[in-house]
Amino acid sequence: MLKPGSTIGILGGGQLGRMLAIEGARLGYRCVGFAPEGDNVASPVCDDFFTNDWSDRPALAAFAAQCDAITLEFENVPLAVADALPKDRLFPPRKALEVAQDRLIEKRFVADLGGRPAPHAAVDSRADLDAAMESIGTPGILKTRGEGYDGKGQWRLKDERDADGVGNISQPAIYEGFVSFEAEFSVILVRGQDGEIRFWDSSRNIHHDGILSASVLPAGEAVEAQVEEARALSRQVADALKYAGVLTLEFFATKEGPVFNEMAPRVHNSGHWTIEGAATSQFANHMRAVAGLPLGDTATIAPQIRMENLIGPEADTAHDLLSKPDAHLHLYGKAKAREGRKMGHVTRIVRA
Ligand code: AMP
Repeated sequence: MLKPGSTIGILGGGQLGRMLAIEGARLGYRCVGFAPEGDNVASPVCDDFFTNDWSDRPALAAFAAQCDAITLEFENVPLAVADALPKDRLFPPRKALEVAQDRLIEKRFVADLGGRPAPHAAVDSRADLDAAMESIGTPGILKTRGEGYDGKGQWRLKDERDADGVGNISQPAIYEGFVSFEAEFSVILVRGQDGEIRFWDSSRNIHHDGILSASVLPAGEAVEAQVEEARALSRQVADALKYAGVLTLEFFATKEGPVFNEMAPRVHNSGHWTIEGAATSQFANHMRAVAGLPLGDTATIAPQIRMENLIGPEADTAHDLLSKPDAHLHLYGKAKAREGRKMGHVTRIVRA
């Protein structure tokens, strides 16, 4: 257990790091961030922040020297960074990053544990893409194996003719058959260093253009009927990775049961509702797990909850939302409201 006043390092400087650092401070810890140059909105709420490239070994060493435990808010931290940090102080472990950074490895890992991903094939060339479309069928989605997020690095292909629009396949990719789903949901769990696991309720997640738009509770029958199976798989994934912290698995609820989409070895946008809507939020429980503290109750505390992302210019008028007494607003302090950029979120809680 980390004593009050200990230091927790956070790799990555985005809004998830910001919300983790706020919870770290509440638990009496110092939080120190590390991320390359950028709009690092975690920085103003951290006690110290290293703005350095991932390849800057002396800076990483100076960061690690301050930290009693290290965690991350960004899954694409290069594996070489994880290798340069003390293994016994890194939560979640390197293996979780290795699996989550590559969509093909991730799908195989989960399938080996009994999960069902969408039909897919590795694509390294135009010939591979043609063959994959032929064998899996259309419509489908071509996705880069690494570094995609919020619909970036993805091309939706209605039929073979669309393949011409993709251009050169310049990085490893996969082609996935389009899943016909009734709803999307995520399983968010926290695993302590002693192996204890707790789940939050699963929200129904609504996406627009590949970006999460809203998370809603209750999630509805289509999701609720499949949560148990999805949780059992998620537990296996967490145990197999000897995970510590919050882990997220995203699923499609289909007529044939839950289809695994992807995982994130971190707190997740679809769990932001837990800040006001659960007894202990994903951010608080993540920091507890990293610090080796007892985990908090994950129970949902209201009958209806709706979290909406504020994307791009939607955040400009966000303060108007506060005229509604049930609205809980979070703005991330990002400098520029680019289109498609997550600027904040609002959670509405309907109490009984
Ligand atoms: P991802 O980055 O893989 O989570 O994709 C972003 C969103 O695109 C998902 O949440 C879905 O709404 C949609 N999507 C991705 N893959 C598929 C698929 N194979 N079938 C149907 N929809 C998909």
